[in-house]
Amino acid sequence: LSQLFRPLDLLGMVYRTIRQGVLDMGAMFDLIDTRSEVTDAPGAPPLRVAAGHVRFEDLRFGYEPGQPILKGISLDVAAGQTLAVVGPSGAGKSTLARLMYRFYDPDGGRITIDGQDIAEVTQGSLRAAIGIVPQDTVLFNDTIGYNIAYGREGASEAEIEAAARGAAIAGFIERQPDGYATRVGERGLKLSGGEKQRVAIARTLLKDPPILILDEATSALDSRTEADILETLRGVEQGRTTIVIAHRLSTIVHADQIVVLEGGRVAERGTHAELLRRGGLYAEMWNRQAAEREEGEALAAE
Ligand code: ADP
Ligand code: MG
Repeated sequence: LSQLFRPLDLLGMVYRTIRQGVLDMGAMFDLIDTRSEVTDAPGAPPLRVAAGHVRFEDLRFGYEPGQPILKGISLDVAAGQTLAVVGPSGAGKSTLARLMYRFYDPDGGRITIDGQDIAEVTQGSLRAAIGIVPQDTVLFNDTIGYNIAYGREGASEAEIEAAARGAAIAGFIERQPDGYATRVGERGLKLSGGEKQRVAIARTLLKDPPILILDEATSALDSRTEADILETLRGVEQGRTTIVIAHRLSTIVHADQIVVLEGGRVAERGTHAELLRRGGLYAEMWNRQAAEREEGEALAAE
C-alpha cells in the first residue's frame, strides 16, 4: 500500500515546493528523481528556533553517485551573524543553500539549527524558519500582490505595500493600471529577472524569518537598484542569522565571516580584511573585481 502512496507524496511535495516559490525549472526536474525524496522522519518534532545558531558539520553531498560536489564542509554561524559564501561558479554555493532548505539530504555530515539536525525535524517547520531569496525566482500565475503576500498568510495590504517598498518594487507596481491586482506570469505581465528578484525579496521581508538565505539575490539588478536593496537587506540581516551567497564581493564586505568555496571545500575563511591580508584566492577575486569596477566607471565617465 505504501507503494501506492509514494507518487502522491511526491506530487504533494512538488506542489508544496512550487507553492514555496523557490523552484526553478531545473530544480523542479530534480525533484522528480529518487535523490530528492526528502521526507519527515516518523514522529519528527517541529524545529524550535531559539537564537538561530547554524552549524554545518563535515557536510558531504553529490547529485550523482561518485561525483561529490561538497567534500566535507564545516561552518559555524553564530546566532544573528552574517556568513558570506563566495567562490567560482560551480563551486557548490547554491547546493549549500538547497541542503539548508532541505531540498536534499546530505550523503554525510549534518546541518544543525540551535542544535537540532534539520533532517530530524518537520520540513514545514524548517521552511517556516528560513527565508530564501533564490537565484531564479518562479512566480505564480496570479496577481503581483498575491505573489508578495505568499510570504506570509494573512498579511494586511499595508504590510504587503511596506514589503514592496523595502524591495524597491512599490513604484513599479503602482505604475501598473491594476496596481497590486496586476496579473503576472505566463498570461500576464512579464517581469524581468531583476523585478522577479525584487518580488522574492518583498516576499521574504514579509515572511520576516529568523534565518535568511540570499543566493545572489541582487545579481540581476542594476547597480543603483542593488545599492538601494542592499541597504534594506542590511537592515533585515540585523539580529537574524544570514547566509549570503554573492558573486559581487563589494556586497559582502560587512559579513562577520567570509568563506571561499572551491572544489567542494572551504579554501579560505576570515573577515574581508583578514582575507585581503592573506593575499590568496579572495584577494585575487577582489582585485580583479576592483579593476573591473574601475574600468566600468571610466567607461561611464567617457
Ligand atoms: P554555484 O552556486 O557555486 O555556482 P551549484 O551549487 O549550483 O554551484 O553547483 C555545483 C555543481 O553541482 C556544479 O558543477 C553543477 O553543475 C552541479 N549541479 C548543480 N545542480 C545539479 C543537479 N540538479 N544535478 C546535477 N548536478 C548539479
Ligand atoms: Mg549558484
